[in-house]
Amino acid sequence: MRRRALLLTLTGAGIVVTLVACVLWAYWRHLDNQVYSQTAFLMGTSVELRVYGRNAQTAAARVFDRLREIEAKMSANLPTSEISQVNAAAGQEWVRVSPDTLVVVKRALAYADLTDGRFNPAIGPLVALWGIGTERARVPLPAEIAQRLPLVDANSVLIDETRTSVYLTKPGMSLDLGGIAKGYGADEAARILRELKVKGAFVNLGGNVYAVGSKPDGTPWRIGIQDPVQPRGALLGVVETGEGSLVTSGAYERCFVEDGRRYHHILDPRDGYPAESDILSVTIVAASSTDCDALSTSVFILGTEAGLALIERLEGFETILVTKDKRVLVSSGLKERLQLRNEEYEIDETR
Ligand code: ADP
Ligand code: MG
Repeated sequence: MRRRALLLTLTGAGIVVTLVACVLWAYWRHLDNQVYSQTAFLMGTSVELRVYGRNAQTAAARVFDRLREIEAKMSANLPTSEISQVNAAAGQEWVRVSPDTLVVVKRALAYADLTDGRFNPAIGPLVALWGIGTERARVPLPAEIAQRLPLVDANSVLIDETRTSVYLTKPGMSLDLGGIAKGYGADEAARILRELKVKGAFVNLGGNVYAVGSKPDGTPWRIGIQDPVQPRGALLGVVETGEGSLVTSGAYERCFVEDGRRYHHILDPRDGYPAESDILSVTIVAASSTDCDALSTSVFILGTEAGLALIERLEGFETILVTKDKRVLVSSGLKERLQLRNEEYEIDETR
């Protein structure tokens, strides 16, 4: 009798322990699948962040702090930023900057080299003159452009690694990291999210996307690509991807219309006008968002032929180009992963 009672008690206890364990496990899993979303206006664009995992909210806060820090250092529009200090000292003196700013200026100069100066972080005087994206946007006089062109000179941007300093040798020169800094922000966001071991995350800094880890349901990330001639939100297609970055640059991003002509924000340093190539939009996919950002701007200016030649020379980059004649050129690594959503476009199979 006593043995039976003991057995019953033990079985009962076993069941209770198992139940409690199940509940705890389910709760743990539930915490893991928590999602936290936040949007903010930062770095001149709307930043959207979605984080999965039990520490989602703290991780998101850390990411936004870091992005604010990067903006405070690199924005050409904040008079206190390091970039503004470098610009204010053009032709006068070296300015000490943080390792962050130095790294981004260095990468930008490397892309200036790689693109024969088409990508050019010394584009500041022209960006300020056109004012695209601001209320004072206007078409400048040819003489105003001609006056600024000699200042857009990447070779006159000097860096001193040991003193982490930057010097613009000509008075009137100015740096603008608008074509690369958001990529750096996305990379830093991804680094923090990985460090904090979130389950998965998706960050979008105005077209600079970074996907980290995986979605809780295990399906691949699906990233929409804006249709370059349709209103915002209309998709050209969707790319399925694992961890990594996807960045799109297009003439539709920031622009204004004067006398029936559209002027956009990617400027060609050779003539000082918005770059006119055969491309409507460029998407670059790679591990580094900084590279994707600089390259999408670069390829947009270079045009299809020189742009694709550049991408092919580099390792680890995939691309989707949309041309003005509505062809979609897709590099081999992305062909299987892109689904077109708009029948007006056609994948060009000759590539
Ligand atoms: P978005 O900022 O819309 O994502 P891009 O990454 O293509 O687009 O960068 C465009 C920005 O880069 C401009 O707003 C300007 O700040 C800067 N820029 C414009 N022309 C050039 C250029 N030739 N080289 C480097 N940066 C440029
Ligand atoms: Mg860019």
